[in-house]
Amino acid sequence: MIDFGDIMDNNIIEKIVKTAHHIYDKEMILGKAGNISILDESKQFMYITASGTDFKSLSHEDVIKVNINDLSYTSVDNKVPSMETNLHVGVYKNRSDVNSVVHVHSPYATAFAFSNKKLRQLEGFGEITGEYITEVDYYPPGSKKLAKYASDALKNEDKVLLKDHGVITVGKNIDEATLLCEYIEGIAKTQYITHVLNL
Ligand SMILES: [Zn+2]
Repeated sequence: MIDFGDIMDNNIIEKIVKTAHHIYDKEMILGKAGNISILDESKQFMYITASGTDFKSLSHEDVIKVNINDLSYTSVDNKVPSMETNLHVGVYKNRSDVNSVVHVHSPYATAFAFSNKKLRQLEGFGEITGEYITEVDYYPPGSKKLAKYASDALKNEDKVLLKDHGVITVGKNIDEATLLCEYIEGIAKTQYITHVLNL
């Protein structure tokens, strides 16, 4: 089999860089916590943001191509793939229709994830399935348990809250997954404001 693992797809890298800047501009990230990936056409390699990258200044060198079968990768300046690489790979292995995964710690949605309040589904992003956004129990960031339980939850959902942590969304492309993150943050904001008005 021909392995094209050493060829980088600049089009995909550019999409990830643009999306990282967009997520930073929309204030959906705190510190260096988020991660983004895109699966390439061969479905054998994903491009993912490097561990500990600042989305504000994220550049081409901060995107790493990872073989989803053996997790091998090449990078510059000793950068390593995101700590949530196993989670992203788990999603791609479970979902043949998904080509992008986005993980953010957007403030309102993450506040719900830290609170005992559930986040209700609202109109605005396709069919409403269930009353509340699914929440995955807390497991430490980067752990194999988080990767397993979050990718399991994303078998039947395009969005989940990670308890005491943040938001993860998937889509057929990066724009869909990003819009879904914005939607989750938007409904969290609306529900927070509604709650305050009703006090
Ligand atoms: Zn996180």
